[in-house]
Amino acid sequence: MTQDAASIRVLSPRLANQIAAGEVVERPASVLKELLENALDAGADQIDVEVEAGGVKLLRVRDNGSGIQEGDLPLALARHATSKIATLDDLEGVASLGFRGEALASISSVSRLELLTSTDASGKGWRVVAEGREMQPQVTPAPHPQGTSLVVRDLFFNTPARRKFLRTERTEFSHLEEVFRRLALSRQDVAFSLRHQGKQIHQLPAVESKEAPEQVSRRIGQLLGRDFLEQSLTIDAVASGISLKGWVGLPVYARAQADRQYFFVNGRVVRDRLVAHAIRQAYQDVLYSGRHPVFVLWLDVDPNIVDVNVHPTKHEVRFRDGRWVHDFIFSSLHKRLGAALLGAEKQAPETEAM
Ligand code: ADP
Ligand code: MG
Repeated sequence: MTQDAASIRVLSPRLANQIAAGEVVERPASVLKELLENALDAGADQIDVEVEAGGVKLLRVRDNGSGIQEGDLPLALARHATSKIATLDDLEGVASLGFRGEALASISSVSRLELLTSTDASGKGWRVVAEGREMQPQVTPAPHPQGTSLVVRDLFFNTPARRKFLRTERTEFSHLEEVFRRLALSRQDVAFSLRHQGKQIHQLPAVESKEAPEQVSRRIGQLLGRDFLEQSLTIDAVASGISLKGWVGLPVYARAQADRQYFFVNGRVVRDRLVAHAIRQAYQDVLYSGRHPVFVLWLDVDPNIVDVNVHPTKHEVRFRDGRWVHDFIFSSLHKRLGAALLGAEKQAPETEAM
């Protein structure tokens, strides 16, 4: 059996972007992640998010970062166009959250996208619109304070097959809120706000200093709830070149699902097997099997001592001395949990033994 050879064609940029969008843009929450990361990469310290209909109808992210120069605007929406790396060497040491130059191209191919930006405080700025990438983006003057606003409307309006996979507004919003929560926890030095359907959901002032524990705990309480704080132990462990700070939930406060677990390595959101294993082991004797502890932990390691090779797109981390990091996390938590539970038993002997 033979088949006629089909002729080979180069995909149109629009189709290529829509295919790429399949990987980057799964739902409104993935759009929000990309837009928040761009705002943080632009050095913003105030980021305001506005959402309508679970983010499907409208998603607006406004930042006070660097803005984009007029001449760069057509490229901002082009695929494989980025200001963040230029050479292969840059890739090795990339510190920004993005670098592939793919997000805006992908998002603009499956939505009605509007970008407003200004690089200074003059009030003068620029507006770029791209609708499903039917046309070349048009750049026109428009007023905007220093920084950038990205407005994404009618997500997947031109790709009904993808739209079908969206869940209820409520579910989409809960995914959005989770992305917001994670980034707001990772960058406490940045002020964030979130509105849904005109209602203020979160309003988080910047934490001025990590040494201001009451400011940090206020943000944690606002994002994770007061009961999280009341049912958790503080962790503050330091050794040479490494520190672990944050909160770990008491065993009684463990959950049926492994949500409410936040781990940051040098400020980045990380999901890592080595880290997960160290934490699980620390809880081993005090937790019923099938229950999952809650935690928010910031691990800071001296990059000169431990090679933190974080892949910017995957939430993975590779430590040069993994065993050492593992043991540090394990022993810090183990000690704290053990001491706290012993103390609790002394005070309240009727406490159920774990
Ligand atoms: P990447 O982040 O991988 O570089 P994106 O498609 O997300 O790619 O963004 C493309 C480019 O647009 C960025 O490299 C940056 O120069 C610019 N850009 C996007 N969002 C912002 C923003 N909020 N503020 C300033 N510049 C931005
Ligand atoms: Mg980006």
